[in-house]
Amino acid sequence: MAMDEAICWRAVVENDRRFDGLFFTCVKTTKIFCKPSCPAKTPKRENVLFVSDTETAMGKGFRACLRCKPTEITGVNEKTKIAVEACEYINANRRADLNELGKSLGLSSGHLQRVFKSVIGVSPRKYLEFIKLKRFKDGVSGGKEVLEAMYDAGFESTSRLYENANQKIGMTPGRYKEGGRNLVISYSITKCSLGNLLVAATSKGICAVKIGDSPEELSAELGREFVNAEIRVEGALIKHFVDAIVELIEGNEVGLELPIDVKATAFQMRVWDELRKIPFGETITYAELARRIGNEKSVRAVAAACAKNNVAVVVPCHRVIGSDGGLRGYRWGIERKQQLLENEKADIALERKLFT
Ligand SMILES: [Zn+2]
Repeated sequence: MAMDEAICWRAVVENDRRFDGLFFTCVKTTKIFCKPSCPAKTPKRENVLFVSDTETAMGKGFRACLRCKPTEITGVNEKTKIAVEACEYINANRRADLNELGKSLGLSSGHLQRVFKSVIGVSPRKYLEFIKLKRFKDGVSGGKEVLEAMYDAGFESTSRLYENANQKIGMTPGRYKEGGRNLVISYSITKCSLGNLLVAATSKGICAVKIGDSPEELSAELGREFVNAEIRVEGALIKHFVDAIVELIEGNEVGLELPIDVKATAFQMRVWDELRKIPFGETITYAELARRIGNEKSVRAVAAACAKNNVAVVVPCHRVIGSDGGLRGYRWGIERKQQLLENEKADIALERKLFT
């Protein structure tokens, strides 16, 4: 079955006759096969097998349904056929370039886009994202490491990958052995408007984000923190993390929660968790942060935990300020904290201008 099963299933649930003839549903419990538009009661998803033609269905021992008569179909809906072919092309090539798609199907890109959307419900680009995300989730739940699954799914640049997939990944405290023993860490250093940016990741997530003037100092600091780890310069593997973090620094909300893999005490983890809930472009005070973790008296400890944050921007400790509005401290320099907050506010202001 070359067609995506999620699309087949939706057509079955909605009795969508536009899909009649393009695939058939075999019901394992009754040994009967139907058209997608069959008016009989919708079978349970786990009992359904999708096949692309009646011969296959009969070959597997299924009998034609007497109600919808799936063997008597004449012709198929042309638009649906085009959309299904486009889906197959996207699945096979993992690309959703409209011109390329149009060319391969002999249609103008605009026409193709309209047909696709009317049948599938989303644009080809969104459909590709959906396929990748699904492949990624399957990979992770099948026991793959995050980076490997991401790579296999075809994510190479900034994406909304984590938007929905974050439940299973996220933080993994207490995993680190002394000095990162047995750990493989990939990192790269990029220039951004705040200076040099170091991003480092284990196979489970981002373990360090540092901003500074000198690239040598940044990599030396990483080496000191993970003295027993195997540290490699590796741009390609973590490019999507770097891209997303640069976007954040330049004040573009990326709408994703990046997975982090950090060493922390239980208290620090609580503070950092809470930090990640502060919306882009907003600030709270250290006192408020202490209240939010349920311990009003812990303002000093909370501030200390912010100062220990090893993943700049990803855990947005820069969004916490003093009760008088003063910026207080920032591990990577107070000017950088100010710049980050200004970039975020500018982005929010622009968004308001555009969408209200
Ligand atoms: Zn039927």
